[in-house]
Amino acid sequence: MVKYVLEELMSEDILNFDFDIPDNLLDNIQQNIEHIIRTFDVPEENKLEVIKQINYMYSRTKYLSYTDELTKLSNRRCFDNDFNKEFLRAQRYHNHLTLVMFDIDYFKQINDTFGHPCGDFVLKEIANAALQTFRQTDTVYRTGGEEFCVLLTETDINQSLIPLERFRKTVETLGLKYNNQDIHITVSIGACQYCDNIKSKEEFIEKTDSALYEAKNSGRNKTVLFK
Ligand code: GH3
Ligand code: MG
Ligand code: MG
Repeated sequence: MVKYVLEELMSEDILNFDFDIPDNLLDNIQQNIEHIIRTFDVPEENKLEVIKQINYMYSRTKYLSYTDELTKLSNRRCFDNDFNKEFLRAQRYHNHLTLVMFDIDYFKQINDTFGHPCGDFVLKEIANAALQTFRQTDTVYRTGGEEFCVLLTETDINQSLIPLERFRKTVETLGLKYNNQDIHITVSIGACQYCDNIKSKEEFIEKTDSALYEAKNSGRNKTVLFK
């Protein structure tokens, strides 16, 4: 019976489902798995194996629910969760927090000219470039089709310019090739630092978005800081 239930739970269909259990509750469940199993009617000799499998399922489910399938970056759901935490932390402790949004320039043209698989290839390359450019303590998220966010923790707006410009120039000089054709890519970047005047997460996002909008409207392939 237990084996059957586990096989059911391990199936890809189940692992791909979207669920709305709050993170803290899930973490709580994981921490208590051992206790939960002890109260199940599982033969003593199988208990360790059952605990291991449930832990595996939990980790895999959490990974899938937080990961963008194409680029393997953290996804929108993960961004919402992390942004909420970092925003509350900045509000309470006044630590430096800079929110970054970047968007690929004229990406539609890439799809139209070279095809959708080439667009997907570009998205993966940009994601890799971002992962290599930013610190491990900074998380990069794919929040939309060709839109990305970065949370720069412990970084003020002036400090953010160095990694952001480094990233912008890295993308500009990536020298991508797809089916022997040269693909030239640029990104526009907007960034905003949290300050006490910002009263809500929505306002923080709006301000960052307006910096990105300005980068787009003033010629693209630029970094604009909201000040
Ligand atoms: P701009 O410089 O103003 O940002 O222009 P743009 O062409 O990049 O912007 P627009 O919003 O017009 O186009 C975004 C395109 O991104 C449209 C859509 O086809 C493409 N896109 C979104 N998600 C994916 C994806 O997962 N794969 C691929 N290949 N393309 C995608
Ligand atoms: Mg866009
Ligand atoms: Mg774009």
